[in-house]
Amino acid sequence: MSKTDRPDRRTFAIISHPDAGKTTLTEKLLYFGGAIHLAGEVKARGQTRRARSDWMKIEQQRGISVTSSVMTFERGGITFNLLDTPGHEDFSEDTYRTLTAVDSAVMVIDAAKGIEPQTRKLFEVCRLRSVPIITFVNKVDREGRPCFELLDEIADALALDVAPMSWPVGMGGTFEGIYDLARDRLYRPAADATGAYEGDAIAVAGINDSQLDDIVPEHVLSQVREEIELAQVGYAEFDEAAYRNGDLTPVYFGSALKDFGVEQLIDALADYAPSPRPQPGDPRDIDPAEPNVAGFIFKVQANMNPQHRDRVAFMRLCSGRFKRGMKLAQVGTGKSIAVHSPILFFAQNRELAEEAFPGDIIGIPNHGTLRVGDTLTEGETVRITGLPNFAPEILRRVKLADPTKTKQLRNALNDMAEEGIMQVFHPQIGSQLVIGVVGQLQLDVLISRLQVEYKVDAGFEPSPYDTARWVSSDDEKALDEFIGLHRSAMAADRDEAPVFMAKDAWELNYIQGKFPALKFSATKDRR
Ligand code: GDP
Repeated sequence: MSKTDRPDRRTFAIISHPDAGKTTLTEKLLYFGGAIHLAGEVKARGQTRRARSDWMKIEQQRGISVTSSVMTFERGGITFNLLDTPGHEDFSEDTYRTLTAVDSAVMVIDAAKGIEPQTRKLFEVCRLRSVPIITFVNKVDREGRPCFELLDEIADALALDVAPMSWPVGMGGTFEGIYDLARDRLYRPAADATGAYEGDAIAVAGINDSQLDDIVPEHVLSQVREEIELAQVGYAEFDEAAYRNGDLTPVYFGSALKDFGVEQLIDALADYAPSPRPQPGDPRDIDPAEPNVAGFIFKVQANMNPQHRDRVAFMRLCSGRFKRGMKLAQVGTGKSIAVHSPILFFAQNRELAEEAFPGDIIGIPNHGTLRVGDTLTEGETVRITGLPNFAPEILRRVKLADPTKTKQLRNALNDMAEEGIMQVFHPQIGSQLVIGVVGQLQLDVLISRLQVEYKVDAGFEPSPYDTARWVSSDDEKALDEFIGLHRSAMAADRDEAPVFMAKDAWELNYIQGKFPALKFSATKDRR
């Protein structure tokens, strides 16, 4: 396929600490991208979604976003796919998987707070895959920390070169707009009470242009001139190769709330962010220019519509041109799946997708066949790699209030295990299931979803185990022997792979030392 057949895509995610302004920025990106016509509709959409599915009460109560979705908008002939990542740290596994499906990320930082713990964690995930990052320092319409301090913190905390691309002209009470360093333009707040970006940038010949003396109050302007002069000698110049490599981040200052910096951010994504990148695979990597379709499932969401018990698998298309009705093979099982009703996600609506291109995300409704980590191709046996399951850090026994609901409970837990938000373990001895999650909040979500979606009242009891490891060995005899000796601590995961549950880290360590022929893995690469 020639490059001209393949529309340009930017598939990206926003990473941030809760409250930094991700929702507001998403809203504004969609607004400036023409996908929504009234700012505020992202929240509105969230509310109808909540009305549809009550379990998201938790989302409301705690003010966090638990689900993740895909939003698409177009601007200047480029299609932008924004993958929303759940904001709370307890959902790092889900977030991690979403980040395997993007080509770049925007890191949003609150100008008053700088780098916060969740920003750093998500950044590390991006770094693992060398995902290039554009930084957006938000809320400069309010009093924030000095720009130099923020830039130095980004550089030190993340070990990255920083290249300021714009500079705030004052902050908070003295805020007079944003200066674009590359294009020498001043973006001004409107004179009305909103103080929002007025829409027209003023072109100047440089920060020392005397035109600015008539526009910006002297005490603000003199300070900004000095700052910019220092910044230009003190920081790296933007270097596209270093950015693409994940070694440098261009930094934009702005205010999502007041529309500052949003268009510049879209332009930066269009100009610098990579289009779909090759994906690592086994036995070979997948190039987006290949003619045949290949993609992988990075997320499965059950019960998006409680009336239908549907399940939607989110596939990132990595190569080829996808057409509706296409038959795709599930690598590993060889099952053929006719994709008759693929869903493309737009800001407000879900629509049938007639075709899709590398970098696009398609929702595939199914009845549980598709799982996180699956690769779909037109027949070739090649697996897209790099989506591990994580070792659960919290193990709990599940206790049913009404013992006649055992079957419903099993079905419900299997559904949710398929979504990849938790693990279900079937102990070799006894019938009480053990579930494993990465964070405490997931337990609350599980209980709530069991009640609302499956009408099952259940609770959790502490389990005698603290951690779990997948056990494998090239020496089958040694493995059987180990399992025989530790029946009470053995369980099977949903693929019937053996799992050893340890009481604590010390026991795990001890057992590992005693059985050197076995491999104890904290993550399980799928199939
Ligand atoms: P999220 O948790 O990262 O999605 O953050 P939100 O977008 O919900 O924003 C958190 C709070 O910060 C809300 O009260 C927003 O109105 C506010 N906020 C977001 N962006 C800005 C901004 O640029 N300036 C100011 N002053 N407030 C902002």
